[in-house]
Amino acid sequence: MSVTKNLQTIQDQITQTANESGRDPKHVELLAVSKKQPDARIQAALDAGHRLFAENRVQEAQEHWTARRESGNYPDLKLHLIGPLQTNKAKEAVALFDVIETLDREKLARSLAKAMQSHNQYRPCLIQVNTGEEPQKAGIAPADLKDFHAFCRDECQIKIQGLMCIPPLEDPAALHFALLQKWAGLLNLPYLSMGMSGDFEKAIPLGATHIRIGTGIFGQRPNPL
Ligand SMILES: *Cc1c(COP(=O)(O)O)cnc(C)c1O
Repeated sequence: MSVTKNLQTIQDQITQTANESGRDPKHVELLAVSKKQPDARIQAALDAGHRLFAENRVQEAQEHWTARRESGNYPDLKLHLIGPLQTNKAKEAVALFDVIETLDREKLARSLAKAMQSHNQYRPCLIQVNTGEEPQKAGIAPADLKDFHAFCRDECQIKIQGLMCIPPLEDPAALHFALLQKWAGLLNLPYLSMGMSGDFEKAIPLGATHIRIGTGIFGQRPNPL
């Protein structure tokens, strides 16, 4: 198992799938999901030149990335938060992440807005949409999306750049990707974060601009959640 080889393989698949669906491969960015991965694998991805990563917990992300950021060795490093965010971690999230993909409720929008203003660090956000309306899953219900988007943008002055979803395991993912694409069009949002190791080739023809790949790059997580 080689992280370098996996990165190349996935990148080739992105290029091919984008070309086949008439999209510019440059408009599909590969987020390497480094949660729960051993440090050596993360370092291998950095050594291979990869600079775009995603994490789903603030504290773990700090362990992986704060020292690397501060080292100055990776000035073009970009980090996305793709996991649930507690309001009391908003400040730390704003300090570490370049993009927050999991904005999903008013209370969090207010906390993020406050953290961004007090630190003068304005981070673009994506709204997480619970496309499958699963009670146990984070994300705003599709029926509430339009009002929530207006609230974030107008009342909190958060720069909303796009939408993110995690389809239900039991459904065809393409249904959910199509729904997210439709909403992004209606709200005039440029970014669509959708598609993981098992389904990214379905997300690209439906407009994904950011795909989130963990195991496909790094291999199985040693202690999966
Ligand atoms: C873990 C995770 C991924 C990556 O999943 P893989 O199956 O390892 O590719 C993508 N998105 C989110 C939100 C995740 O939590």
